[in-house]
Amino acid sequence: TATIGILALQGDVREHARAIEHVGARAVPVRRVAELDAIDGLVIPGGESTTIDKLLRAFDLFGPLQERLRAGLPAYGSCAGMILLADRVIGGTADQQVLGGLDITVRRNAFGRQVDSFETDLVIDGIEDSQTAPLHAVFIRAPWVEEVGPRAVSLASIRTGPAAGRIVAVRQGPLLATSFHPEVTGDARVHRLFVQIVRDSL
Ligand code: GLN
Repeated sequence: TATIGILALQGDVREHARAIEHVGARAVPVRRVAELDAIDGLVIPGGESTTIDKLLRAFDLFGPLQERLRAGLPAYGSCAGMILLADRVIGGTADQQVLGGLDITVRRNAFGRQVDSFETDLVIDGIEDSQTAPLHAVFIRAPWVEEVGPRAVSLASIRTGPAAGRIVAVRQGPLLATSFHPEVTGDARVHRLFVQIVRDSL
């Protein structure tokens, strides 16, 4: 079975681990460099991308993790995790660094103060039954994808309301990212898609 690390510096670590185990993979927390060697894929939870960046550097994980990603480690980033996997960030702080890997530009806190949090139903490419059973997505001070470069593909966009058309899920090879938090709804289909990506990479 595949072993999936959950970056355990900040965020919903336990909920992601539960979802990963629910779809039949092993989940292990990752806080140290040595723990990177034992994993087949990594989940980067939501939280605050600036804080996770600082903690990655404080734990001497930033460089080694970036190297493993460049060498093809599959990774799934949710919300702040999406920001960390993006090549370009709008609205970041002056000293904010990102791991990169996804050929996308994200806008931090894109949905504005009025809609700090909101929920909507999505159809996601690669999750076949979301056509008939849309995935309920929860957004918490989320980024959206402002631009998708030629190496990445959009998997989902908002269907209704003021943010209609905004891209909120992307993939580039073994990298997957969503603006929303699938670990809070008990719907494990995004985690199942990621575990499938990891298995295909083994
Ligand atoms: N606003 C946060 C950031 O910029 C992301 C919020 C989240 O992960 N729920 O990093």
